[in-house]
Amino acid sequence: MSGHRVEDFFPTAGPPRPSASLRVKNVLPPPSSALAPEPADLDGALRPALAALAGRPLAVITGAGISTDSGIPDYRSPGSPPRTPMTLQQYLSSARWRQHYWARNHIGWQHAARAVPNAGHRALVELEVRGVVRGVITQNIDLLHARAGSVRVVHLHGRYDVVRCMGCGARTSRADLHERLSALNPGWRLQVDDAEIAPDADAALAATTGFVVADCAVCGGVLRTDVVFFGDSVPPAKVDAARRIVDEAGAVLVAGSSLAVSSALRWVRRAHRDGKPVVVITRGPTRADDIADVRVAVSTTRALPWLAERLPSLSRGDPGVR
Ligand SMILES: [Zn+2]
Repeated sequence: MSGHRVEDFFPTAGPPRPSASLRVKNVLPPPSSALAPEPADLDGALRPALAALAGRPLAVITGAGISTDSGIPDYRSPGSPPRTPMTLQQYLSSARWRQHYWARNHIGWQHAARAVPNAGHRALVELEVRGVVRGVITQNIDLLHARAGSVRVVHLHGRYDVVRCMGCGARTSRADLHERLSALNPGWRLQVDDAEIAPDADAALAATTGFVVADCAVCGGVLRTDVVFFGDSVPPAKVDAARRIVDEAGAVLVAGSSLAVSSALRWVRRAHRDGKPVVVITRGPTRADDIADVRVAVSTTRALPWLAERLPSLSRGDPGVR
């Protein structure tokens, strides 16, 4: 692998701190020059990954890169346009920011809802059925792992399809809220034909004034989607669930993530500390390149089916399988 370190491209990410919290930060994408070309010799590129992973139960950590072939853009991959997502502090600070958020989410969430799982998602399902994958820890909010059929999935950064009230805690589906927002904003879609679709079920719009926001139908409180905003923290229950998957595994496979966000990087560091092999399959530089045992710059849509065909099945009775 080249000498790329993610800090070269993501200066705002900063060096990892020993006591790093799980607060989620925005980072800038690397330049397109950091994107490695897909290797022509897939077998040669992936054989070291197969050797490192075979016979071990796996914890899989996925990011936006696994969903790009389902049409969901990855705004941290090399060459992506810079973008400034709304922080939790902004969202909480004013009704104007919430209006801006919901106007964009009203369009963006439908794009996530229409996306379908790809060959990478399906390969991880097959590996879970065969006892190889012990769980998936994903930074994605698109639910494509669950929709493909993966059973044990930790949605580290939440899910786009659930809305909760910050007052009374009532939870509703995003689809139900869509009905209410559509009734409050007839014809809104017409104003946003050129909406840019963003990875967090968000769509960048120029004009969001005039959008009518819905409050909680139970108590009138402020609603939010059940996703982790930038500046937000990962809920402790999810941190515990992710830790269990990593501790049960004999190796970690990172698929389609630059690990720019510490909420995912910490699990790779933990596995590495415990002497477990770390394999990273993603195009472009990652923050774990210095500790990865194998680093492969191949798209997950090609790499994961290749691995699923070759990794031997495991049962709970196998040595090293807990
Ligand atoms: Zn409420």
